[in-house]
Amino acid sequence: MVAADGVSSRFALSVGRERRDDRPMGTAVRAYYRTPRHDDPFMESHLELWDGEPGRSNLLPGYGWIFPLGDGTVNVGLGSVSSTPARQSAAGIDYRRLMETWLEKSAPEGWDLVHEPERGPIRGAALPMGYNRGPLYADGVLLAGDSAGMVSPFNGEGIAYGLQAGRVAAEAISQARHRASDEAREATLATYADRMRADLGGYYTLGRWFVRLIEHPEIMRVCVRYGLPRKVVMQFTLKLLSDCYEPHGGDWVDRVIAGLTRVVPSA
Ligand SMILES: Cc1cc2nc3c(=O)[nH]c(=O)nc-3n(C[C@H](O)[C@H](O)[C@H](O)COP(=O)(O)OP(=O)(O)OC[C@H]3O[C@@H](n4cnc5c(N)ncnc54)[C@H](O)[C@@H]3O)c2cc1C
Repeated sequence: MVAADGVSSRFALSVGRERRDDRPMGTAVRAYYRTPRHDDPFMESHLELWDGEPGRSNLLPGYGWIFPLGDGTVNVGLGSVSSTPARQSAAGIDYRRLMETWLEKSAPEGWDLVHEPERGPIRGAALPMGYNRGPLYADGVLLAGDSAGMVSPFNGEGIAYGLQAGRVAAEAISQARHRASDEAREATLATYADRMRADLGGYYTLGRWFVRLIEHPEIMRVCVRYGLPRKVVMQFTLKLLSDCYEPHGGDWVDRVIAGLTRVVPSA
């Protein structure tokens, strides 16, 4: 059986797989807005997320985005992250309010955003990160997607990893069906966890350390001020945060990132 029932995963809970408290947890909110730029060819990301007046309030570890949808509207949202669920609760951020403040004080220029009430209010959800629930396979149950906490701590994305988990789980299950003994079937199903950990475990460990760093406002400030304007730092950051590095070969940036994911302990 596959538990793919999202962040709350009652299925996983019902078989005793509790959420880990030492993994990063994020929250993201979004809403839809009308704008003349609804069919822009690019999405926009805003890596400075202030909770008030830019430069005079708190710089949060997160980012805001605008996705043009081409139907007269854009998806506007923001997300922020903490190194543990406890730290996230302690931060006590009201995300709907944060979004309103962000749009009011840091409104991305040139979009003329007008809230589209027919598409609903500002809504959000938790982002479970860095394999915050496991084991990924045991006793006939595989966890996939948000139920296993597969959102990337680097960027808050979980769709691609959920799809990847679905594909790897399907392969393991279909192969297990052809095994002759219970032991062989178990061993084959267990390859799901091994493959997912081999592929993402090191990357998620780096992500966990990254979140621990950026949740300190003073470190965030230094990164934004001195890091972002430098091309080489931007290239490294972009590849690392977007998971767009080449795991084999590529340029020196790819090789450094791939090497790091291999030498750190798996999440
Ligand atoms: C505001 C916001 C923006 C985001 N933006 C991005 C983004 O741009 N890119 C990205 O990659 N990720 C993004 N994410 C994260 C992404 O949405 C999730 O990581 C992803 O949807 C996880 O997929 P999933 O299938 O594991 O879980 P879900 O998408 O939550 O799907 C679980 C499904 O299981 C169903 N379900 C639950 N219980 C049961 C049950 N008992 N029986 C039957 N069905 C059940 C639910 O109804 C749901 O349809 C965003 C998240 C938020 C909150």
